[in-house]
Amino acid sequence: MPTSITYKYYMPTRVIVGKNCIIANSDIFKPLGKKALIVTGAQSAKRNGSEKDVTTALKAVGIDYLVYDKIMSNPTISCAYEGAKLAKDNKVDFIVGIGGGSPMDAGKAIALLAAQDIPEENLFSGQYENKVMPMVLVPTTAGTGSEVTQYSILTNDKAQTKTSIAADLLFPTVAFLDATYTEDLPLVTTINTAIDALSHAIEGMLSVRASTISDSLASESIRLIMDCVPDMLQAIKLEAEGRFRPEKREQLLEASCMAGMVIAQAGTTVVHSMGYSLTYFKDIDHGRTNGLLLGEYLRLVEKTQPNLTRRILKAMDLSDVDSFQELMNGLLGRREEVSSEEISQYSKITMRAKNIANCIVKPTEEDVREMFERSCMNDV
Ligand code: NAP
Ligand code: FE
Repeated sequence: MPTSITYKYYMPTRVIVGKNCIIANSDIFKPLGKKALIVTGAQSAKRNGSEKDVTTALKAVGIDYLVYDKIMSNPTISCAYEGAKLAKDNKVDFIVGIGGGSPMDAGKAIALLAAQDIPEENLFSGQYENKVMPMVLVPTTAGTGSEVTQYSILTNDKAQTKTSIAADLLFPTVAFLDATYTEDLPLVTTINTAIDALSHAIEGMLSVRASTISDSLASESIRLIMDCVPDMLQAIKLEAEGRFRPEKREQLLEASCMAGMVIAQAGTTVVHSMGYSLTYFKDIDHGRTNGLLLGEYLRLVEKTQPNLTRRILKAMDLSDVDSFQELMNGLLGRREEVSSEEISQYSKITMRAKNIANCIVKPTEEDVREMFERSCMNDV
């Protein structure tokens, strides 16, 4: 019998949303084991109350834990191996990742590397045994959606870029979304991470793997994020950190989670691949790189797929790509300058990325170069 699979949808993570949801659901940790490794950054989880809530919940159900709080932004491969060694030496049973995308991604890599021996040269191969430690993730930025994806993105010095470990094994067991932890996020981080989420939703729609389900999640995520944009622009104008209303923080966190569900199905595109060079070589924040680049990819797609671009712009309530660029300029401020030699180097690296295959309009190296040129100029 002839068969044709239109698409598959798989999202096995249990998502729990709400104020104090970790403590109210301490029992969730019980079946995961007797000892946990908390993987987090140096400071923010201690300040925003998330680490305390996790340790309170673990103590309430008699689970022992230790804390590995050395995760830097854009985590390195060695940091993942070091965390895995700590997990094995201390015989932990599961991982709790708390923080932005960096600690969550590091936590996922540690969960994999602590459960099986993977030599560094095979780390990104996708060929793993069916073994991983359970993972509980607590996002404290509203951007990456890593709490619901099967990706762990690490800085890969050999390839001079960032590379993802991608495997269904890496879907977290549980994601706790409590927007209280995001209340004191600095304005710049709020904006950059919201742009990351917006980019996930839009890139998901620009992917050859987009489906009715992923597009519905993407549209709603875009709507929720765009509804928060006026508050961001106002805070920039007033040069104030801008305390966002709690309901807006909740909205951004839910939107970023939904956008994570989108890329879990559809993947990201050339926008993310190009952005990895700007992060690797220029140390530009991950979310910001997507905001710098996305407009030019929308412009490229528009040439051959005007209806798709129109549908995406409509979801943002914008009339054309120029209005999108204007909006990004307002949110991002002055753009970084990148030299022509640097652009040549980044374009070559970009063309080797796995996510080029997802692009609904496959860019040539010349397209990539042009997109870099137009994105990294201040007179766009
Ligand atoms: P991040 O690198 O995790 O964190 C950036 C900064 O924000 C850190 O200094 C952190 O401080 C601080 N921070 C975190 N939560 C805070 C809070 N609630 N209040 C105040 N400060 C806070 O940034 P991110 O943008 O969330 O994550 C970016 C990473 O995620 C990149 O490596 C990117 O490649 C990856 N990513 C992964 C996926 C995926 O599907 N897996 C998708 C997109 C992006 P501390 O260091 O003290 O915690
Ligand atoms: Fe991203």
